[in-house]
Amino acid sequence: MQYAENILGTIGNTPMVKLNKLTAELPCLVLAKYETFNPGNSVKDRMAVQMIEDAEADGRLKPGGTIIEGTSGNTGMGLALAAIVKGYKMICVLSDKQSKEKMDILRAVGSEVHVCPTDVAPDDPRSYYSTSARLAKEIPNSWYVNQYDNLSNTKAHYESTGPEIWEQTDGKVTHFVVGVGTGGTISGVGKYLKEQNPNVKIWGVDTYGSVFKKYHETGEFDEKEIYPYVTEGIGEDILPKNVNFDIIDGFTKVTDKDAAVYTQRLSKEEGMFLGNSAGAAIKGLLQLKEHFSKDDVVVVLFHDHGSRYVGKMYNDDWMRKMGYIE
Ligand code: PMP
Repeated sequence: MQYAENILGTIGNTPMVKLNKLTAELPCLVLAKYETFNPGNSVKDRMAVQMIEDAEADGRLKPGGTIIEGTSGNTGMGLALAAIVKGYKMICVLSDKQSKEKMDILRAVGSEVHVCPTDVAPDDPRSYYSTSARLAKEIPNSWYVNQYDNLSNTKAHYESTGPEIWEQTDGKVTHFVVGVGTGGTISGVGKYLKEQNPNVKIWGVDTYGSVFKKYHETGEFDEKEIYPYVTEGIGEDILPKNVNFDIIDGFTKVTDKDAAVYTQRLSKEEGMFLGNSAGAAIKGLLQLKEHFSKDDVVVVLFHDHGSRYVGKMYNDDWMRKMGYIE
């Protein structure tokens, strides 16, 4: 008999899939690390379990405890699955720009959901950073995960996602392209791949309205770079500890419109029904094309599933209202 001990045993070992139509203009092989095959439909299952197990191991999380996290949904989903299997209570704190589908999904897996305004500074008491920290103080036997600064996040990708990409490409990967939010994915995978081959180039995809690209290029945290944007899952108005700027070779910024349009194109032209950050990632990859040559193997990571975006990027009324399509 072949079975996993519980649902957490099905995390990881996701497929690698070749892109064909959208990348036809490129000279090289482009492969997608297809993370929607995880049980929570996103890459975040990997780091959710790692963060919980590291917190159990050093006593930050105790039996019967409450897990609290500020999350755009995918980390919450991974944490919620692990909380069910391991017997913890789960509270997710979201900003109000996240899709309703994400909130409904979190409630469906037993999580309590708090919604906070997006357009307030991180240190405003109403922000989802502050609200998460306050709940953690108020609720006894609770643990605030803080995926931004919790380095178990990067560790999960260093120990699982990175080695899988190296093995699936027989060590031939030359470029890795990925959207950056907390930075866990790019930093963990990037560190692992550069340790195997220092010539592998690591590219971050950022949004307009986020600080990463400018900070990487100038070392300046420029508040003028911060303004509201639509793209979900990537870009930040803070510098998370999980972003290891030293292992990143460069950032490219993708507009909200392009990210939304390319999310639809991935689905309609490649049969890849994916989330909004996948659209940003593939458009970012195309913007980087001058860096790729014939023998390169470019891996892009697609974080999450399209079902969470049916009311937005997959809804033509919404796309028209936003001015993204005619
Ligand atoms: N895409 C989606 C859909 C996400 O939820 C996240 C996590 N915020 C990212 C991309 C960015 O990944 P990371 O946090 O590892 O940088």
